[in-house]
Amino acid sequence: MGAIILKCPTTGLEYASSLEMDELSFVRSLDLKVSSRCPKCGGEHVFTLRDARLNSNHLAGVSSSPNKDNQSKS
Ligand SMILES: [Zn+2]
Repeated sequence: MGAIILKCPTTGLEYASSLEMDELSFVRSLDLKVSSRCPKCGGEHVFTLRDARLNSNHLAGVSSSPNKDNQSKS
């Protein structure tokens, strides 16, 4: 599962929407329309998944979770 990353057309900044999807569902739903409240400009944008991208951690290789130390509790 990964977060759907949308690009704010007003500010040009990317942000993670509240939607999460796995890769297979994503590529099958490219014409699906989603509306999202934008934290960058405060507006609401409607996108198709074709305009979005999927933030799949195992592909990006980027760890964006700040709480990975939580497991070392001894
Ligand atoms: Zn926006």
